[in-house]
Amino acid sequence: MIKMTNGLRYTGPIYRPPSEANSLLVQATIGCPWNKCTFCMVYKKGPKFKIRPVKEIKEDILWAKNYYGNSVKTVFFPSGNTIIMKTEDFVEILNYTKGLFPNLERITIYGSAQYILRKGLDDLKKIKKAGLSRIHVGLESGDDVTLKNVCKGSTKDIQIKSGKLVKQAGVELSEYIVLGIGGKKRTKEHISETVDALNKIDPDFIRIRTFLPKINTPILKDINDGSFQILSPLEIIKETYELIKNLNVTSKVYSDHYTNYIHVNGKLPEDRELMIQTVKNALNRNENSFRKIYIGTE
Ligand code: SF4
Repeated sequence: MIKMTNGLRYTGPIYRPPSEANSLLVQATIGCPWNKCTFCMVYKKGPKFKIRPVKEIKEDILWAKNYYGNSVKTVFFPSGNTIIMKTEDFVEILNYTKGLFPNLERITIYGSAQYILRKGLDDLKKIKKAGLSRIHVGLESGDDVTLKNVCKGSTKDIQIKSGKLVKQAGVELSEYIVLGIGGKKRTKEHISETVDALNKIDPDFIRIRTFLPKINTPILKDINDGSFQILSPLEIIKETYELIKNLNVTSKVYSDHYTNYIHVNGKLPEDRELMIQTVKNALNRNENSFRKIYIGTE
């Protein structure tokens, strides 16, 4: 018996992709089980990672059904790594959600490559069958040195294998990359290895973000001691140029984030020339015409 609650209950920061702005957000997990990425501020001050009991998650879904009725079309299950939920529990949640919302079009979550790989193809297929539409994955970079420097907890090989697994299971894949995350030292390798990883995965979506230092993050120490040098806006645009020029994918590319200096959107390969033109125009701009580098708080 699922009891009625007074509303949706959230613990700790709740982040969701911009594309899920209109989605019902039901918290399935709290925090991030990894929580070591040096550029990420989201859960650095807690809370500790926890998987919510299935019963509680169902109570929240039932509350949403009573409040929103059949208007819910998309659902996102925060927090940082809901893919880590036990498959049978997640399947139960997905089936319950599907059963309550007849007009449901999409269910999505965040998942890191290492946890996706651990889940394996059979379980990913079960989750797909139960209704998961899309996984949002932080690739960040394809460069192993950069991934190690930022403590991502995965390698290029893990990223490629897990990306392919998601696609093989029939789940849509949204890969996030961070321009400038290699710093000045690794800019060349960061872009060439990221392009290579994305070309091997060929995800449904590639979402571009730009590195912006954030409060409470370990990478601030590297910036202060000079071991990590932040790229200038035009250096970031050059990375964008190399990325768009060399991607050999059939993905939709979005720059849907406030950290980016320019917005380059389109479907590859069809829109490549238009996208390249946008980047070339930006390369002709004065360095001072772009937003300043600052320490972000969100
Ligand atoms: S970037 Fe993602 S995996 Fe890394 S600490 Fe932040 S939430 Fe966790």
